[in-house]
Amino acid sequence: MKLFDVAIIGASISGASLGACLGAEAVEVALIDKDRFPRRKACGEGLSNIGVEALQRMGLHAEDAIDSGVPYYHYRVDVGDKGFPFGSGRTRTLKGVGVERFNLDTQLVDQACSLPSVTPFFESKISGFNTSSEGYTVQFADGQKIESKFLVLADGANSFSSSSLGIPKIRKDPPLWGISFVLDGTFLQVPGEVVVLLKDGFEINCTPVSETKLNVTFLTSREKVKSLQDEGLQKRLLAEAAAKCQFLGAPVEVSLNVGPVNATRRPYYRDSVLLLGDTAETLDPIAGMGMTHGILMAEIAADSLLSVLRRGADINSSFAQYASRSEAMSRPFRGFTRLTASLFRSPARRLLIPALASTFFPGLIRSALDESWKPVDEPFSPGRKFLSLVGM
Ligand SMILES: Cc1cc2nc3c(=O)[nH]c(=O)nc-3n(C[C@H](O)[C@H](O)[C@H](O)COP(=O)(O)OP(=O)(O)OC[C@H]3O[C@@H](n4cnc5c(N)ncnc54)[C@H](O)[C@@H]3O)c2cc1C
Repeated sequence: MKLFDVAIIGASISGASLGACLGAEAVEVALIDKDRFPRRKACGEGLSNIGVEALQRMGLHAEDAIDSGVPYYHYRVDVGDKGFPFGSGRTRTLKGVGVERFNLDTQLVDQACSLPSVTPFFESKISGFNTSSEGYTVQFADGQKIESKFLVLADGANSFSSSSLGIPKIRKDPPLWGISFVLDGTFLQVPGEVVVLLKDGFEINCTPVSETKLNVTFLTSREKVKSLQDEGLQKRLLAEAAAKCQFLGAPVEVSLNVGPVNATRRPYYRDSVLLLGDTAETLDPIAGMGMTHGILMAEIAADSLLSVLRRGADINSSFAQYASRSEAMSRPFRGFTRLTASLFRSPARRLLIPALASTFFPGLIRSALDESWKPVDEPFSPGRKFLSLVGM
């Protein structure tokens, strides 16, 4: 039975990023996913500039995906007939890039799998785990088995691997369901913004992701997602979303469903098992920082695993450090996404959003979106400190 240093369950943005970082240091990695790559993924597809910078810092090549994406400079929240810009400030600084996940995830997976010490196990269903003298045995449904010293669980919000290892969810908010459409066509004007429509019980995120493509992702209750099977309603809302983005076009490819998604948390680690990305903490998707959060966690996890595997550091203290650094990083994102979600879902949002658009709230969003994550525990700016308080 082959022995790996690290088995990563889930090869999406966080798992593939970690796999590529570890593989670059010749760590023997098993990169496991139930899906085959390339594949599409339901997502709003807005990657913040903090995430873009982190990918560059980690030496991960995502240039093709990012260069073919569309930069955005602020969010515009539409309630009723009016749009309110958040996060733009006086100067037009970059907040992020609309990217096609198909391209981004493919580039990261390809980079990881091009490294000699990374072995992909795709379209591989896991049936369970056992502890062994070396660490863990991973059992696949087809009878295959591998051994690994460490496990990294990166199989998303509804992590099967966490459940089968008995790692519980810490917090559970009411669940939401999502559905993503990709529209193909023409922009009448370069948009430079992500538009959030709050309409008829839907949170509709509209992100330009290429010169010809607009991502329209709905987030709502299960029943409301089902109601979009009504072609008339679906067409009307997609046309409205496209018009708000000055886009002429129609859906291509099949829509992608996702859910249940809720803002949940699990422990960052247990024994020799690290939890990564959405598996460790799922942020509220309406604020669109999940990919960034997953990439930053991968950066921290790579550092901790390398310190154990390459520098002989103590496992417990390295993993405890992974937990404390991840928590310090996550707290502001948690605060920002909770604040945004509670504002957008407030029954008084028609009053609150126009009022807050001209006060401190855009500054908070700017602060959360502008500031680069400091790889070592450096003091946060006042804006970040405030957000971290909200996230407590
Ligand atoms: C509707 C919606 C809109 C969003 N919009 C945005 C946005 O605009 N910007 C943003 O930054 N974030 C957004 N997010 C959040 C973002 O999609 C996630 O935070 C991000 O994908 C998490 O990455 P991950 O690698 O941790 O997990 P995931 O991307 O969830 O990947 C998990 C991987 O594990 C694999 N897997 C699952 N089960 C198993 C198993 N049993 N065995 C093996 N493999 C398994 C899956 O195939 C998948 O590849 C959105 C989320 C939703 C739901």
